[in-house]
Amino acid sequence: MPVLPIRIMGDPVLHSPASPVESITDEIRALVADMFETMDAAPGVGLAAPQVGVPLRIFTYAYEDDEGHPWRGVILNPELWMRPLEPGAPDPDEESEGCLSFPGERFPLRRSDAVRVTGVDLDGTPVTLEVDGWRARILQHEFDHLEGVLYVDRLDDGDGKTVQKIARKRGWGRPGAAWTPGVDELEA
Ligand code: ZN
Repeated sequence: MPVLPIRIMGDPVLHSPASPVESITDEIRALVADMFETMDAAPGVGLAAPQVGVPLRIFTYAYEDDEGHPWRGVILNPELWMRPLEPGAPDPDEESEGCLSFPGERFPLRRSDAVRVTGVDLDGTPVTLEVDGWRARILQHEFDHLEGVLYVDRLDDGDGKTVQKIARKRGWGRPGAAWTPGVDELEA
């Protein structure tokens, strides 16, 4: 099972909506195994199939809270409901997130406190996730990837300009930019 290259902002697969998974084949099972391995190697708390160049509605997630409760899984063809956003500006200390497709950076972003996600697991069994806090943030972020949206697309104007500046400096924002965990050194 290889660690897959992760596409970076600017690659078209990250900026278009992904397609539903029609049937769960051996190919899909192998892809998901590679996605778990890639997410763990990065390391990341979530990974969507478009990030590894596959335009399908699949994401993996893994997160351990302060009490050490593990939370890990994969969801196919998800739908998402969320509690409306609280008004106001995000707190940079408490509400900053990052993305393996814009690696080494974090920016503040307001997200909904609570979400429900439904879909199926790798056996085709229906799954419902009802979570809040960081888990809710992770699911919103990964669901966005399936819609062709990066969190950097949602930032305020000032941070949006910073993102463009960083992308220019690093040669991102073009088709084919990618990095491979464990192979490419990233400038933090
Ligand atoms: Zn991401």
